[in-house]
Amino acid sequence: MPAKITRELFDQVILPVYAPAQFIPVKGQGSRVWDQNGEEYIDFAGGIAVNALGHCNPRLVKALHEQSEKLWHVSNVFTNEPALNLAQKLIDNTFADRVFFANSGAEANEAAFKLARYYAAQRYSPYKSKIIAFYQSFHGRTFFTVSVGGQAKYSDGFGPKPADIIHVPFNDLDAVKAVIDDHTCAIVLEPVQGEGGLTSATPEFLQGVRKLCDEYKTLLVFDEVQCGMGRTGSLYTYQQYGVTPDILTSAKALGGGFPISAMLTTNDIASVMHPGVHGTTYGGNPLACAVACEAFDIINSPEVLEGVQNRRALFIEQLEEINDKFKLFRQYRGKGLLLGAELQPEYHNKARDFLNAATESQVMILNAGPNVLRFTPSLLITEDEIKEGMRRLTKAVEKVVNA
Ligand SMILES: *Cc1c(COP(=O)(O)O)cnc(C)c1O
Repeated sequence: MPAKITRELFDQVILPVYAPAQFIPVKGQGSRVWDQNGEEYIDFAGGIAVNALGHCNPRLVKALHEQSEKLWHVSNVFTNEPALNLAQKLIDNTFADRVFFANSGAEANEAAFKLARYYAAQRYSPYKSKIIAFYQSFHGRTFFTVSVGGQAKYSDGFGPKPADIIHVPFNDLDAVKAVIDDHTCAIVLEPVQGEGGLTSATPEFLQGVRKLCDEYKTLLVFDEVQCGMGRTGSLYTYQQYGVTPDILTSAKALGGGFPISAMLTTNDIASVMHPGVHGTTYGGNPLACAVACEAFDIINSPEVLEGVQNRRALFIEQLEEINDKFKLFRQYRGKGLLLGAELQPEYHNKARDFLNAATESQVMILNAGPNVLRFTPSLLITEDEIKEGMRRLTKAVEKVVNA
């Protein structure tokens, strides 16, 4: 081990695809994090909507500890109890009959898109391969998922892309109508776009897309990697819309910080698959599933789900106090604790500056594109933590505005 682990070491040893903050977190508890020097930070970022139950939640620690002394890994040559337990919970609480486990959001989406293509090819025609997706969407960084994602800057530069993927504007039903046809195998969308600026689907749009999918024998795929698992106030966001997908992907908060993802679907769609068509070494790993089972039980409770709207309200109340002073925000976006504050035009392209200033003032926040500040805290964040974080954010805003 190097004599001292420093932030400078990052720039020497890590592939330069990130620009992390200058401090190195070493400890977390609830919605507080401490760095190498013992400085304390309030966490409004939640590891990008992952730490839905805060840092080192005692129940998750216990679940992880207990499983760690029983069985870590067996591969999918064997099944295991935590995976079956978690699959049953997901099925009992959603539209789904079948679950495929993987380790990341991208892998769950990769499985979803492959399944949609495979189903269409098996059931209808090998030419039924068109995927309709949306600008500003984000579905992960594997080459298939990043190509389905609606931001060319992430998918350009890597050679020929997977073919037959078309992007249209989000919430624009006419645009979907103009491109959907009998060769379309799937429409893929996030009910609330996470990375792309926290745009929520309109109810009419989701209902319209569902009808088009039925008409053209097209599968509707909801990527709830970011907006699922309690984040918007229901277990999954589709449940608030009353529009049921054919395939749903879940990750981020699913493991509360332990890497795990799931793809959910129906018996009919699952029935085209058979051993060997798709797979993963780690997916459904007992450690991950044991933690996710515990996270699931905590999140899928009335107290936690109902607490989401109150916390959102307090966040917005506090952001409004900042707004009264600085006229910074144009509107609030997203749902529940997938909350965006869109900057006024004079602060466009400055989201990153506010984020950096917030870090200096010891509150961790995110951006979603260049014009939106994003807050994805623990679903259990306390009133005190919210107020203290907002005091710090106010200081940070003051610095940027007066700079
Ligand atoms: C984060 C995210 C992904 C990718 O998940 P990874 O775990 O980073 O692979 C996919 N879709 C959405 C909506 C996301 O927010």
